[in-house]
Amino acid sequence: MLAASEEAERLAALRQLNLLDTPPSDEFDRLTLLTARFFAVPVVLIALIDDARQWVKSRHGPDLGEIPRGIAFCSHVVHGKQTLVVNDASEDPRFRDNPLVLGPPHIRFYAGAPLITRDGHALGALCLIGHEPREFSPSERHTLELLAAQVMAVIELRQASGRLHPTSRLPNAAQFGEDLADLIRRHQGESRLFVMIDIADPDHLPTHINLLGPRWERELPTAMIRGIRAVFEEKFPIYHPLSLRFAFLLDPSATPGWQEKLDQMASHFRRPMSSEVPVALHPSIGVVPFRLGDFTDQALVQRGVLAAHEARAVGRMLTAASGQSAANDWHDAHMLLGELRRALDLPGQLTLAFQPRLDFKSGACRAVEALIRWNHPTLGPVSPGEFIPLVEHTTLMTDLTYWVMEAAMREIAELRRTEPLFRVSINVSAGDLQNSDIVGRITDLLRRYDLPPAAIELEFTESSLLPNRTFVHQQLRAIRDLEVEIAIDDFGTGYSNLAYLKSMPASVVKLDQSFIRVLATSARDRAIVKAAILMAHELGYRVVAEGVETAEICAMVAGWGCDEGQGYYIGRPMTAEALKLWLAERQIPPVAVSLP
Ligand code: C2E
Ligand code: MG
Ligand code: MG
Repeated sequence: MLAASEEAERLAALRQLNLLDTPPSDEFDRLTLLTARFFAVPVVLIALIDDARQWVKSRHGPDLGEIPRGIAFCSHVVHGKQTLVVNDASEDPRFRDNPLVLGPPHIRFYAGAPLITRDGHALGALCLIGHEPREFSPSERHTLELLAAQVMAVIELRQASGRLHPTSRLPNAAQFGEDLADLIRRHQGESRLFVMIDIADPDHLPTHINLLGPRWERELPTAMIRGIRAVFEEKFPIYHPLSLRFAFLLDPSATPGWQEKLDQMASHFRRPMSSEVPVALHPSIGVVPFRLGDFTDQALVQRGVLAAHEARAVGRMLTAASGQSAANDWHDAHMLLGELRRALDLPGQLTLAFQPRLDFKSGACRAVEALIRWNHPTLGPVSPGEFIPLVEHTTLMTDLTYWVMEAAMREIAELRRTEPLFRVSINVSAGDLQNSDIVGRITDLLRRYDLPPAAIELEFTESSLLPNRTFVHQQLRAIRDLEVEIAIDDFGTGYSNLAYLKSMPASVVKLDQSFIRVLATSARDRAIVKAAILMAHELGYRVVAEGVETAEICAMVAGWGCDEGQGYYIGRPMTAEALKLWLAERQIPPVAVSLP
């Protein structure tokens, strides 16, 4: 027997190789075939001795399945760390009562050469099995040992040739590519699910990094593996194809209840990682159903990333997998994104509506907000409330934002011929701020339409300002350096406070409509809005009330010193043409300012 510590090291060395429970692969199968031909035996195995079982990486001959370690001939090879030859098992007192001798596979002849690592750990054996007694010459023994060394060379080559992710030591994208190719060769056309777990939630990652420090790189993969293994008893490789993203393949026909299991896995992740690390993960999980052979490994990884993005965007842990309705939603979301991508290149489907903002002091309208409108050829109008959240975490967002910027600046350049001081405010999403190109784009567009920076204002929601603060800060400063104004949209709905936002170079706060629309009936909201206006002024912001739906509300907010109002009472979002008429006719409703 091996000493306990030596056995623990041996097992650790074995696990590090990530060979256990991986699919068969040609490079090993060629060696077992060669060995069987050379020795003319019916069975050849590359067997690895795990904690309690013998697991076969490659075999020539019938499938013997997993064998308990206690009865496996190869465990003797591992313990002795040297070649074992049993000429006739039924005559050998060590083996004659072994169930593998008495029953299938009826071993009579056995020869196994150890698979030994550079560090001297015996992982398993390359072994020959015959159903008849047989002599084994010293030169045959030597040949078997040479072949075992060759198996070890392949194992170590895999290890050395960059198939493991450097931090997690899990099989990486290259290994996934190899395994998928092997799987396609064997099971072409069968259905599989590619499950991608994306732990890079931009809102939570900074917390993880703060709480765990440099340990997070080590702890997160461990927690992921634990979460997956806690739910799926069948062992399959877990890949680490991209930083902060983990993946595995499921065979849905061999995994009954896989939907529920994925759900369970998702809730497992929502629990804190461990008692000493009270961090819950907020991964998004994308599921890509496909047929083996339909996609390359890279295409699958890309689709997985997209599916996980979309899962986060629709606010669900799972996309295609959590039952039929989610599958439909996922399908709809997926379809909608594809259609929107096309709409960006086609004229006519996307337009801008402009909603006036009323300046309470002067009673004039000098600003409008640009709001996107999508008229889909068969679905009809699709509300931005529906598609913006879907797009927000995809790369499409930047294209959409640039489309809006360009269209808004074109219209405002036109309007400023008659209303020289007019400005347009444009909604910008979190992802756009992560894009280092945004400042250059704004500069280019201002130049193209010959507009001063004061002609535009950018609106950001609070939540888009939170992740990756330092970078966001830099971007906002660069925008402010252009002298473009920055507004904080939907203020009051996020978790930040004005004092924090003060460190952002914004100059306008737009109070969210959920506070404003209810002012007539809610004393609590009246108190909040009054206080928010006061505080925002103290901190030097201009304040815009959104959702001004009635004359009464308009009078209230104006009376409390709010600078501007926007809402259905003042004007609905309208086309550029309608806006020109509206402005020309000065259809600005009267504001009866009541004192607070
Ligand atoms: P938001 O930026 O807060 O825009 C204001 C929304 O409130 C608009 O909805 C507007 O039509 C609606 N609204 C204005 N006044 C009133 C009112 O008095 N009462 C009520 N009940 N609603 C009012 P819309 O156009 O459906 O846009 C919804 C959201 O979609 C916008 O909220 C914004 O977050 C987003 N969005 C719209 N266009 C764009 C865009 O071009 N880019 C980005 N990133 N987001 C956009
Ligand atoms: Mg807005
Ligand atoms: Mg808003």
